[in-house]
Amino acid sequence: MSEVIFRGGTVLTIDPQHRVLAGDVASVDGVLVHVGGDYTPQTGDYQVVDCAGCVVMPGLVQAHVHTCQTLARGRADDMELLDWLRTVIWPYEGKLDEAAARASGELACAELLLGGTTAILDMGTVHHTDMIFDAAERAGIRATIGKAMMDYDDPQIPPGLRESTQGSLAASAKLISRWHGAAGGRLRYAYAPRFVLSCTDELLREVGAQAKIRGVRIHTHASENHGEVALVRQRFGKDNIQVLDELGLLGDHTCIAHCIHLSDTEKRLLATRGAHVCHCPSSNLKLASGICPVPELIAAGVAVALGADGAPCNNNLDGFVELRLAALLHKHRFGPRALPAPEVVRLATMGGAAALGLADQIGSLEVGKRADVIAIDVTALHTVPAGSPWSMIAYAAKACDVRHVAVDGAMVVRDRRLLTLEIDRVRDHARTAAHRLFS
Ligand SMILES: [Zn+2]
Repeated sequence: MSEVIFRGGTVLTIDPQHRVLAGDVASVDGVLVHVGGDYTPQTGDYQVVDCAGCVVMPGLVQAHVHTCQTLARGRADDMELLDWLRTVIWPYEGKLDEAAARASGELACAELLLGGTTAILDMGTVHHTDMIFDAAERAGIRATIGKAMMDYDDPQIPPGLRESTQGSLAASAKLISRWHGAAGGRLRYAYAPRFVLSCTDELLREVGAQAKIRGVRIHTHASENHGEVALVRQRFGKDNIQVLDELGLLGDHTCIAHCIHLSDTEKRLLATRGAHVCHCPSSNLKLASGICPVPELIAAGVAVALGADGAPCNNNLDGFVELRLAALLHKHRFGPRALPAPEVVRLATMGGAAALGLADQIGSLEVGKRADVIAIDVTALHTVPAGSPWSMIAYAAKACDVRHVAVDGAMVVRDRRLLTLEIDRVRDHARTAAHRLFS
């Protein structure tokens, strides 16, 4: 038995009542057994994690990241989406080898965990997805990962990323059998057709069918950029969300990043089908893509989550930055009460958990759920004096304030030190691989 006690913090439960409690949070064998008030250990073999001066809450869940792109941080600034993809990102991914994919994955997982993100929905590249899973397994993060699918005959796609329809499906099936449910269920697979423009109709239709048969989620991008939307209309004679729906990909098992340029019909479709939208405010601003209409989507009944997207379009994987930006970004149109602090913190936790299909397991601190727990030190000057813990998390706290992190009841960060990977080695491997790829 492994018993962990997070002792003496202010507990943001993110439960349906949005309760804020004082006291302990405890887990036994990865399952939460106690939330708030004093806890008495059940076994003789327990560890106490001091959370005095901390806000204790569920780990942040990012429902759209690309851990394979981390080595391209700082290499693709100040560009719009299609140029960014064609001139830097696709050539970079085309050159990525096994060692570089692993180094990129480890760097991303280390940054994410140290910054309080405990679960991700990750889109890999076309190849080397085993290396990304391997990095996530060893880092100890909860990850749903999929290889990017790109079988459309587009001369702009470099040879290293081109694949056949059957090859793409076979590679995905192999990854599902190896990784879906691995590491005690901590690792899962999601089909990841990059976007409709990178895929044939045949592939998209087959992904829609296979995802339902296999009980696997779908993770894609849509309606991020005006140029992309125009190309989709040119090829299909209709908009992104309608295409995804007609080909059988839209459902409550689908998470779509961005969704900035949507018609009212598309918004209604997303709500009716129960699809999840991942809002990535930093990436959308940096690529000058636009702003996802989050308040309108929520009002229409669409489920929304948050994500940092990738290092080359952000340039961090800091969940707190996305939280703060999401909270601020919509107030100029809807007034100061748009996305108030408790609501945006909920998007960053339960919203992400739902997008990953794990709302019954993570995203809140409730007895019976898996113990993905973070403790945020709120004694630094920029968080003093302590006001509302909701305000603290939404507007003031930073990734560097994260003191302890547990995933599935296992401590992965303790007193700001990553316990699973050796940071100096992660940094060296990332630098060496990036130098090799970009020189
Ligand atoms: Zn993306």
